[in-house]
Amino acid sequence: MISNTTTPQSELKTHTVVIVGGGAAGISVAASIYKRDRNLDIAIIEPAGKHHYQPGWTMVGGGVFRPEVTSRPMSEVMPEFVSWYQKAVAAVDQDRNQIKLDDGSAIQYEMLVLAPGLELYWGGIEGLEAALGSNGVTSNYREGMASYTWDMVQNLKQGTALFTQPPMPIKCAGAPQKAMYLSSDYWLRHGVLKNLDIQFHNAGAVLFGVADYVPALEAYIEKYGIDVNFQSTLVSVNGPAQTAVFRSSDADGNSQDREVGFDMLHAVPPQRAPQFIRESALANENGWLDLADDTLRHKTFSNIFGLGDVSGTGNAKTAAAVRKQAPVVAENLIASLRNEPLRAAYLGYGSCPLTVENGKIVLAEFGYGGVLQPSFPKWINDGTKATRAAWFLKAKQLPALYWHGMLKGHEWLAKPAVRSTTD
Ligand code: FAD
Repeated sequence: MISNTTTPQSELKTHTVVIVGGGAAGISVAASIYKRDRNLDIAIIEPAGKHHYQPGWTMVGGGVFRPEVTSRPMSEVMPEFVSWYQKAVAAVDQDRNQIKLDDGSAIQYEMLVLAPGLELYWGGIEGLEAALGSNGVTSNYREGMASYTWDMVQNLKQGTALFTQPPMPIKCAGAPQKAMYLSSDYWLRHGVLKNLDIQFHNAGAVLFGVADYVPALEAYIEKYGIDVNFQSTLVSVNGPAQTAVFRSSDADGNSQDREVGFDMLHAVPPQRAPQFIRESALANENGWLDLADDTLRHKTFSNIFGLGDVSGTGNAKTAAAVRKQAPVVAENLIASLRNEPLRAAYLGYGSCPLTVENGKIVLAEFGYGGVLQPSFPKWINDGTKATRAAWFLKAKQLPALYWHGMLKGHEWLAKPAVRSTTD
C-alpha cells in the first residue's frame, strides 16, 4: 500500500545519485559511476536478496552449468560504496525529484538512474503460471526452473516437444530457440530425435530479427527436423491435460485457434516494463522507458537516465547491451552533474549467443537497425556461423567476465562512442 502523504522534508533521505534496481544494469552502472568519481553519494534501491546471472539459465537448461553458479546473495554483489535500500520502488515523482518506496517512505535524488529490468507477464498466457514445473511444462525464463527443463530433456524419449516464443520485445530474443537447439542436440546424440515431433511456435514472422544470422539457424532447424510455425502465439496451457492452444493470424487479421498435445512444453511469457514505469509519464507510447537512443538520458526529464531491459531504445535486451550502456550512462550522468555537454554515445550494441549445439554457438552481435557490430575479427569468430570459439567464450569466459568484470566496473570492450553533436 503506497501512502499518498508527502514525507516531511526533514525525514527525507537524500542522495546525489539514486539507482533503481540492483540487477545486471544497476550494479554495473554504479561501478562505472564510482570508477569515474569516488566522491559521489550513490544509493541503490533493490528489494531482492539474490542476484542472478540470467544468461546462465540457458546453460542450466542444457545441462552445461549447475544452477548454483547462476546466483549469488545480493549482499555479495552490492558495492560497499553505495547505500543499499532493500525495498521496492512504487512510483517516481519526477516533478519533486523523489522516488516513493513500497513502505510509503520517499528518497530525494539529484540524478536518477532507472534500471528495474522488465516484468515477465506470465498472466498473459492463460493457465501457464499454474502449469509450470509439472506435466512437462517448463521455462528457462523462470528463476529456478531451468533444472526442470534439463530433467525433462533427459527423460523424454518419444512424443511431442513444443518450444514457444512470444511477441517482441523480450529479453534475449534468441533464448527461446537456444533451449530448443540444446534440447534437440541432446536428443540427437542419445538416438531419440527420430521418435520426437519438435515444434517451434513463434509469434513473430521470422526466425531471427537480423537476417545475417538466419541461414546458420535454418541449417540447424533442418538438421534437427524442427517444424517451424510462424505467427503462432501460445494463448493458453492446460498442464494436467498436456495441451496448448496456439492462435495464428493471417494478413487480413483473421485468427484461428489450434489445440496441440505435448509431452514437453518450453514456454516463454510476453514481457513488459514494470508497472511503475509503464503507467507513468516516464514511458513511451509502448510503455517502455522513454530514453534518447544515444545518450540514454530521458527524453523529457534531464536528470533521469536509464539502461537495461526497461529501456525503450531499439536494441536487443541483453546483459551484453548493459555492458556497453553502463559506461555511457556513467559518463553522461557525471557530465550532466557538472553542467557539461553529453559526449558519450551508445550505438545500440546487443549480443545473443545462440547455442545451436553443445559445443557451438552462433554469436549474433548487432546494433541499432540490425547493423552488425562484431567484437572479434572474422578469423577468430565469424558471427554468422556456428563456432567453437564462441562456445568457449560463453561457457568458460563470460560468467567470470560478468561477476568479476562488468559488475566491478571493468569495462571490457565497452568504450563509449563519441557523439558528433552535443546538447
Ligand atoms: P535484471 O538483471 O533483470 O535486474 C533488474 C533488477 O531490478 C532486479 O534485481 C529486480 O529485483 C530489480 N527491480 C525490479 N523492480 C524493482 C522495483 N520496483 N524497485 C527496485 N528494484 C526493482 N543476456 C545476454 O547478454 N546474453 C545471454 O545469453 C542472455 N541469455 C538470457 C537467457 C535467459 C533465459 C534470460 C531470462 C535472460 C538472458 N539474457 C541474456 C538477458 C539478460 O539477463 C538481461 O538483459 C539483463 O539481466 C538485464 O539487466 P537489468 O539489470 O536490466 O535487469
